Amino acid sequence: MDNIITTNYHTHTKRCMHAVGEDREYVEAAIGAGIQVLGFSDHTPYPTGTGFVSGMRMSLKEAEGYFKSITDLKEEYKKDIKIYTGVEAEYFPEHFHKLMEFMADYPLDYMIMGQHYVPDEEKGRYVGAPFRDKGMLMDYTDNVIEGMKTGRFVYVAHPDLPNYTGSDMEEALRDSFSKICMEAKRLNIPLEINMLGHMRGSVYPSDRFLKIASEYGNDVIIGMDIHNPKHFFNNKAVKECIEMAQNYGLHIVKELKLG
Ligand SMILES: [Zn+2]
Ligand SMILES: [Zn+2]
Repeated sequence: MDNIITTNYHTHTKRCMHAVGEDREYVEAAIGAGIQVLGFSDHTPYPTGTGFVSGMRMSLKEAEGYFKSITDLKEEYKKDIKIYTGVEAEYFPEHFHKLMEFMADYPLDYMIMGQHYVPDEEKGRYVGAPFRDKGMLMDYTDNVIEGMKTGRFVYVAHPDLPNYTGSDMEEALRDSFSKICMEAKRLNIPLEINMLGHMRGSVYPSDRFLKIASEYGNDVIIGMDIHNPKHFFNNKAVKECIEMAQNYGLHIVKELKLG
């Protein structure tokens, strides 16, 4: 079966505790769906030095097994598919340097930014759940912009994740999204249209965001955000994400230059 996109850089594994299937099943499903370039980007382990244990990412101890498994699959399937080893990571201002030190020991090909919490997971809150605290939206915006400026991220996953519901929602989100789009354009960083969010009917990917991205002329990228190998075969959702980009005249980045 031919897929209508042939690259996907947003793929999880069961180590994050909210994805299912073996690593190999993800590779075989991707090949079956016509994917030619597959990036694994599981939720990164995050060394904070506080002993905090996350419920939505692999532990520090699991990193070794993750990198080994994906590196082995990369070699084993190299005739059929190009595999990259990445992580999806937040830019936590206090801890990001510790993450980069930690990653220096592993064969990391790339990172995408998925800013799920501000200012971090332990002290902060999940921005994808409804919130009315304007300061939290401003922190999200600042964190995403600072993260992009590190030069470590190849793209921003679900930039429109914040579920801000304050009375000034329209204006506040326009301000936040405009700042993110402007900086992404300046740094030439693609912004993701997240297929999983679309499949679930989440607040993202949002028309509000894509309209602003079209005003700034941003590049977008379709990220499948796979948490189940079966999702590679959801051609309908892929097609609808492509149509969203086309409706706003947004250029879709098909392939990233990695390493
Ligand atoms: Zn996830
Ligand atoms: Zn993800």
